[in-house]
Amino acid sequence: MKLYAPEYYKDFKCVADRCKHSCCVGWEIDVDENTLEKYKSLEGELGGAIRASIEDGEVPHFRLCDGDRCPHLTGNGLCKIILGLGEDYICDICREHPRFYNDTSRGKEVGLGIACEEACRLVLTSENYSDIIEIGELDGDVCRSERGFDALAEREKVFLILSDKSLPYLERLKALSREYGVSPDILDERGWRELFASLEYLDKSHKNDFEAFSLSPATDGKIEVYLERALAYFIYRHCTEAEDIDDFMSSLGLCLVLERLLASLCAKNGARTVDDIILPARIISEELEYSEENAEEIKLEFAFR
Ligand code: SF4
Repeated sequence: MKLYAPEYYKDFKCVADRCKHSCCVGWEIDVDENTLEKYKSLEGELGGAIRASIEDGEVPHFRLCDGDRCPHLTGNGLCKIILGLGEDYICDICREHPRFYNDTSRGKEVGLGIACEEACRLVLTSENYSDIIEIGELDGDVCRSERGFDALAEREKVFLILSDKSLPYLERLKALSREYGVSPDILDERGWRELFASLEYLDKSHKNDFEAFSLSPATDGKIEVYLERALAYFIYRHCTEAEDIDDFMSSLGLCLVLERLLASLCAKNGARTVDDIILPARIISEELEYSEENAEEIKLEFAFR
C-alpha cells in the first residue's frame, strides 16, 4: 500500500530542547506492548528507573511528574531514554508524534498535527498545501469506502475553491459554504461560545480564550494567507476519511469552525506574523482536534441538518 504526504512533510524535524511546548509535558504517554517487552529485559540503572516509572492499568503509561512532565524528560528538554539507549527504545507514540494517519481509496496518508509548534510552523509557512506526494510503501491493503464515496475527489474540489486566488479569501470561504451547504453561521456567536464552554479542556484557561469566538473577526490579507493554510490542514486531516457526503459535510463544518476560531483569536491578539499565529493554532489543535469528543461535539452541529 502506498503512503502519501503533503510536500512539506519531509522537512519536519523535532526541535527537542528548543521546543517551547514540548509534547513530553501535559500528555499521558502510553507504553505500547513491543516497547514494554523491551523495557522488561533492560538491565542497569536506567532499565530499573524506566520500569519503576510505568503505571500499570488498561494501557500501561509513564507516571507523570510535577508539572505533568514525562519522568524521562531532562531539565533541558531532552529525553533520557534516547540519550541513554537510543531512539529504538522510545515508545511508538513518542516516535510517531506529531504524525497522524488516514486511510484513503489509494493508500494511506500521513500528516503533521499542529499541536506541535514546529509542525504548525511548517504547515503555516508551506505554500502548496494541495501537493500531496507519494513518499513510500507500507504493508497492508488499501481501505476502500464500502459506500463508494470518493473523499479524495471531493477534497480536491474543496482545495480548488480554497486556492482560487482570483477571489478574496473571505469570498472563497463563502463559495465553499455555498458549494457544500455548510457554514459556521449554522449557530450564532453566542451558540458557539456556549458550545465551546461546554467542552472538556486540558487547560481550563483556554475555555476563556475561546469566548473570543466571532463569525466575522477583523483579519487582513497578511493573516489570511496563514488562515487559508490552517484551513487546508484541517481539511486534509478531518475530511479525508469521510464515508459519505454527509460525513464529509459535517467534517468540513468542523474545519470551517476551527478556522473561524483561529481567525477570532488572531484578531483578539492583534496577530501579524506567523509566530503570533502558532500559539492560538496549537491551542485549538490540542484542545479541539486531539480530543475526539470535542471534535465530535462540533461536528454534531452540522449533522442531520
Ligand atoms: S512538540 Fe514537536 S517539536 Fe516539540 S518536542 Fe514534541 S515533536 Fe518535538
